[in-house]
Amino acid sequence: MLPYGRQSIEQSDVDAVVAALSSDWLTTGPRVAEFEADLERVAGAPCVTVTNGTTALHAAYAAAGVGPGDEVVTTPMTFVATASGAAMLGATVVFADVDEDTANLDPAAAEAALTARTRAIAAVDYAGVPADYDRLRKLADMTGAVLVADAAHAIGSVYRGRPVGSIADLTTFSFFPTKNLTTAEGGAVASIRPELLDRVRTFRTVGMVKKPELLRRPDEGRWFYEVHEFGLNYRLPDVLCALGSAQLRRLAAFKARRQQLTARYDELLAGVPGLRLPVTPDDVDPMRHLYPVRILDGRRREVFERMQAAGIGVQVNYIPVYWHPVFSELGYRRGMCPVAESFYAEEISLPLFVDLSDADQDRVIETLRGILGS
Ligand SMILES: *Cc1c(COP(=O)(O)O)cnc(C)c1O
Repeated sequence: MLPYGRQSIEQSDVDAVVAALSSDWLTTGPRVAEFEADLERVAGAPCVTVTNGTTALHAAYAAAGVGPGDEVVTTPMTFVATASGAAMLGATVVFADVDEDTANLDPAAAEAALTARTRAIAAVDYAGVPADYDRLRKLADMTGAVLVADAAHAIGSVYRGRPVGSIADLTTFSFFPTKNLTTAEGGAVASIRPELLDRVRTFRTVGMVKKPELLRRPDEGRWFYEVHEFGLNYRLPDVLCALGSAQLRRLAAFKARRQQLTARYDELLAGVPGLRLPVTPDDVDPMRHLYPVRILDGRRREVFERMQAAGIGVQVNYIPVYWHPVFSELGYRRGMCPVAESFYAEEISLPLFVDLSDADQDRVIETLRGILGS
């Protein structure tokens, strides 16, 4: 089965991991700081690594002070972790609808969802296309909310000349194997606000505080540390950070290949009846994580099943988050974000990954054209 996404691992990646394994540090060693510095060069802001994209969101919301009584406005067209990270901290998630073309959080819908209790606005760079950050920034500043970007799809993407990571107050990344680069499991939080990033760092290190100037009892001894707020162990080990740094050295090549594959889909699927292709706004330079097409005329399920039967591992991204029983049992109702729901009803993600060959991509295109009868 041709997957819809997968990692690209070369000898340079293997060598980096082997070197880390034979070093003194399997975790909490020098490769963590190295990878974080490498990430900063791409993200345009300092970064803290964590164990995955889900924990990156949990840590980001915790750093933003999200808690009981707060509301977090976000999109339903995402992986559940964008919402569950806030819900697990006791906040109420408020879903706002998406833009019809990009499936990104619609700033007008987000604005309508704001209240005095809005603590954070969380956007998602769906498929790698950056959200409408300038408009979301205005909303955040207007209400005093923290602007969070779930950029699990979008490391390497650029919005109006600015790298994703340098725009929102807190930006989260995922390094799962299907994403733009991988550490097997892994993630990071970038922040343009040092005090928020310090809170992320403390949270991912079980809440341990060691800086003498922050201790309540600074003279206890060199071994001393204190915990002021609860945290978790979300540390990414050196072995995986080594893989991350090796992958980052290949990021420009990854982006170029993803752009090439996207251009081939755009060209070779243009004009196919019953099919709507993704659009890219003029002011962004995305590193495309997904190629989400829309299957018209109510044929999505049929097309999905026939593609899978032909050995092509298509995917659906995403089930509207509030459809999950954990949210519907809290009273969220189907129909609350109709644009997201109609997007979901038609969406299929075609295979898109760095090592996808032109020949395999041609087979995807021919199979889809055959099913749609053109
Ligand atoms: C993958 C993903 C996550 C979670 O990342 P993991 O590393 O799998 O935990 C969060 N949000 C979005 C939009 C994702 O695609």
